[in-house]
Amino acid sequence: MASLSLDRVAKTFPGPIRAVEGFSLDVEDGALVALVGPSGCGKTTVLRMIAGLEAPSRGRIALGGRDLAGVAPRDRDVAMVFENQALYPHLDVERNIAFGLRLRKMPRAQIARRVQEIAERLDIAPLLARRPATLSAGQRGRVALARALARRPKALLLDEPLANLDPRLRDRLGEQIRRVHAEERLTTLLVTHHHDEAMRLGQRVVVMRQGRIEQVGTPDELYDHPASQFVAELSAPTAINLLVGRLEQRGDGLRFRADAIVLDLPAPQLECLADRSGQPVVLGIRPEHVALVSAGGSPAERGTIPGRVEHVERLGPDTWVRVRVGAQCLTIRAGPAGSRQLAPGQGVALAFPTDRLHFFDPATGKACRPPVG
Ligand code: ATP
Repeated sequence: MASLSLDRVAKTFPGPIRAVEGFSLDVEDGALVALVGPSGCGKTTVLRMIAGLEAPSRGRIALGGRDLAGVAPRDRDVAMVFENQALYPHLDVERNIAFGLRLRKMPRAQIARRVQEIAERLDIAPLLARRPATLSAGQRGRVALARALARRPKALLLDEPLANLDPRLRDRLGEQIRRVHAEERLTTLLVTHHHDEAMRLGQRVVVMRQGRIEQVGTPDELYDHPASQFVAELSAPTAINLLVGRLEQRGDGLRFRADAIVLDLPAPQLECLADRSGQPVVLGIRPEHVALVSAGGSPAERGTIPGRVEHVERLGPDTWVRVRVGAQCLTIRAGPAGSRQLAPGQGVALAFPTDRLHFFDPATGKACRPPVG
């Protein structure tokens, strides 16, 4: 185990293609950090540079304080597991897992103990005598993981290890990765383009976009305080409602107006929106934070916004309601209570809890933050 540190790392491929730029990250010893972002944003390139399969164009990568520049992949003590990792087809599962240990000339009895231990942790002990061709995709994924873990590398790099698995298997293997990580305390970097996987498994999550880090934080930090519209959309399972509006001065305070949606903003927001009076701004609010305060068609209560139900969709315990407010349409996640009576055409009143509002600059997509100092 060791801490992993990347300092202003960049990778440019011929073209030039700027795959990674100014990437700085510290992964503490034994931590599990998830790297998430859309296809082509540079996630795999970051892992390949750590593993030594690509040389950075700029910057420094260190593992356990040791600069990895010029160190061959096999001497880095880093294990990488790819999506659809090939196993040795002619070896049974036990020998596949033991392969790296045999290369390192570990005593036989010790190898047998370690293989058994890791196979039990990943629930593949009954498969030890089988050949890879006889295994399911999920079982092969666990064998690849076991093989990487068996030799206790200093760092474990997982590149979309759950891709191509059905959702149920993804959940199960994801849970096993989390459990094994907790038991083995391996410094781990997990790459995924599924935000839910990143938010569920990562103790910290790095959101990447076009080769750069957009935000690093705990899942809660990304969900509660997204640094940009991009992160806000990536850090929750359902799309955040984004309303383009304008700020108006109202006495000492500010008022947000987007067509029929008018909100007086409380003090904490005034600080973050200082100097933006009269300017356009994007308001973000998650579907689970809009409250349906009156679902019976009664006149809107004071401070609430009247709207009309357009569509209702019931999915198990959740009810998703599309509500039109003037020219805007919002998605609301309504709790089971009360949502049963909702029907298209019905009048409703909405409340926007002001501590759940996010504001973004329409030009840059960056969150409006309180001025520093
Ligand atoms: P995905 O989720 O689709 O795997 P990713 O986020 O892992 O994507 P990378 O594979 O790191 O993205 O690629 C980042 C960028 O670098 C892409 O534009 C890709 O086309 C480019 N790239 C990657 N490897 C090479 C290479 N060997 N030569 C040229 N360009 C490359």
